[in-house]
Amino acid sequence: MPFCDDLFNLGFLEDKAYLCRIKFFRMTTVFKEYLDKHNYSNFDLKAVLFDMDGVLYDSMKWHAKSWKETMDHFGIPSTSEEFYLYEGMVGNHTINYLMNREKGRDAASQEKEDIYKLKTELFSKYNDGSLIPYAYDFVKKVHDEGLICAVVTGSGQPTLINKLEYNFPSLFEKERIVTAFDVKNGKPHPEPYLMGLAKAGYLKPNQAVVIENAPRGVEAAVAAGIFTIAINTGPMPDRVLADAGADIVLPSMKALFDNWDEYRKSLI
Ligand code: MG
Repeated sequence: MPFCDDLFNLGFLEDKAYLCRIKFFRMTTVFKEYLDKHNYSNFDLKAVLFDMDGVLYDSMKWHAKSWKETMDHFGIPSTSEEFYLYEGMVGNHTINYLMNREKGRDAASQEKEDIYKLKTELFSKYNDGSLIPYAYDFVKKVHDEGLICAVVTGSGQPTLINKLEYNFPSLFEKERIVTAFDVKNGKPHPEPYLMGLAKAGYLKPNQAVVIENAPRGVEAAVAAGIFTIAINTGPMPDRVLADAGADIVLPSMKALFDNWDEYRKSLI
């Protein structure tokens, strides 16, 4: 709430309780707007659907680095930052998009294969498997509140389920994980999140919230009609996530952990 904080810092708002009331009012408005827009009278929260890269795992920087070095190798100009915008896109689409932009033509199928192979090799080399700070704490917290925790990722890593079990033991049941293999259409299509609702127990959109970090992931969740909290763990401005339709944009998983008890009052 930059406006409130500015007023407070400038000394116009000295009453902290008043400031808190403004913040609470603005926050409850966000939840009410969602309910009004979707014609629900209330939330009935049963599940939290988590994206994986950039939400649970601090892996986006390695994806971006691998993409940039791969494109450099093949003589295709790019920036590391732009790959955060393409997160969730199928690899071949990213390659074809850049090829068209920089060379004015489609990538041949052999080129796509070679480029994607190098990107995958570099990612395996760089990725250290580290978690986003507070990801474990937050998942554990909502799990202990009795909420179903599900994962909805566009990733197709074969070891993904084992990896999740290793880092988040007993928090994600494997029947509740949606991967690239479960859907025909990737994000920003709503199918992955609709599948997430089904895997979480055939829930309605108002019975879940989504935690996303990528604009295309946010678009997918919003298209599935689910309340979407974006955490901005990458270098892009918050505006990109807000423009994609996120109901709330936060700077980190820690901010979500800290605010959750407050949000929970509106999610009943
Ligand atoms: Mg992500």
